Amino acid sequence: MTAPIPAWLEPVDLSIPPLLAEPLSRHTTFGIGGPADVFARPATRQELAALLRATNAHAVPVQFLGSGSNCLVSDTGVRGLVISLAGALKQLLIEGRQVIAESGVMLGHMVKRCLKAGLTGIESLVGVPGTVGGALVMNAGAFGGEISNHLVQAQVLTLAGVDKTYPRAELDFAYRWSSFRADEIIIEARFNLPAGDPDASALLRSEASSRRKARQPLTFRSAGSVFKNPSPEMAAGMLIDQAGLKGTRRGDAEISPKHANFIVNHGSATAADVAHLIKLAVRTVQERHGVKLQLEIKTLGFEPGFWEEAGLDS
Ligand SMILES: Cc1cc2nc3c(=O)[nH]c(=O)nc-3n(C[C@H](O)[C@H](O)[C@H](O)COP(=O)(O)OP(=O)(O)OC[C@H]3O[C@@H](n4cnc5c(N)ncnc54)[C@H](O)[C@@H]3O)c2cc1C
Repeated sequence: MTAPIPAWLEPVDLSIPPLLAEPLSRHTTFGIGGPADVFARPATRQELAALLRATNAHAVPVQFLGSGSNCLVSDTGVRGLVISLAGALKQLLIEGRQVIAESGVMLGHMVKRCLKAGLTGIESLVGVPGTVGGALVMNAGAFGGEISNHLVQAQVLTLAGVDKTYPRAELDFAYRWSSFRADEIIIEARFNLPAGDPDASALLRSEASSRRKARQPLTFRSAGSVFKNPSPEMAAGMLIDQAGLKGTRRGDAEISPKHANFIVNHGSATAADVAHLIKLAVRTVQERHGVKLQLEIKTLGFEPGFWEEAGLDS
């Protein structure tokens, strides 16, 4: 039986029909996650604003998703509305050294277009499978480069429907952290990239790609690094490896034998399986090394206190 369209959604006109009881496993790179009551991909800013007006008027909870490449969604899914900008809001404009990207643009696409335009500075992000919006929230980075390095400004829409533009100076970024608030959805970002030598950029890009292939278990589904590195000298993967946990399995979830900071899904892993391995890694690393790991991935749809009981921020 198909679920009825909730009354709050009826007046909202969307080009891509919203999906009801949509399994979020279809929208996360882990391939894990229960249903969202409503899953919507607004094709334009106007549609996004209309959705937010409707959720505001009816106090419907809202969560955001980019391409779901740094998220663990619970097996029970997410109540209310999940707005995804992957596959939507994907205009990319390059004018001289200015790059204007809507938040649904995939990073890999942006890197390629910038290189083609003779711009440099973001080659190392090739292979990060996220959207520009998700990458800014996470301050995604690789091999020394971070998405925030060349940011000029970011435009957001708040859940209350207020449009704001933050110049770079009003934003803070740190290792896998940004000061965007939980009630702000990023809709566009502007970057200023230096002009580069196309051959040198192509080399950097291919080196970043090869290093990634050599180190990461890219043939399996995952959400990238599960934990933040406790310090630049102390990699979370190394601590988990030294704690003897590489290859530990729970159901179809496994702490990757190739890279211990990746948990991979061999097919039918559940969020509960992954959460078990996460808590095991936190406990064991704390016991062996006296170091408290913290999550890099974002978690959605878990009961309040589920992560906090293991001393983790969600
Ligand atoms: C194989 C693999 C390799 C990876 N390698 C790297 C790496 O080298 N470096 C790295 O930093 N990361 C890496 N990641 C993690 C991930 O790709 C990045 O963090 C990416 O930037 C997340 O983007 P996303 O669009 O998938 O965001 P999601 O995972 O969908 O969301 C992440 C967070 O951002 C929020 N969000 C998403 N879009 C918006 C928006 N428009 N406005 C407001 N909030 C939003 C979500 O609510 C969530 O809290 C890897 C992941 C995988 C699977």
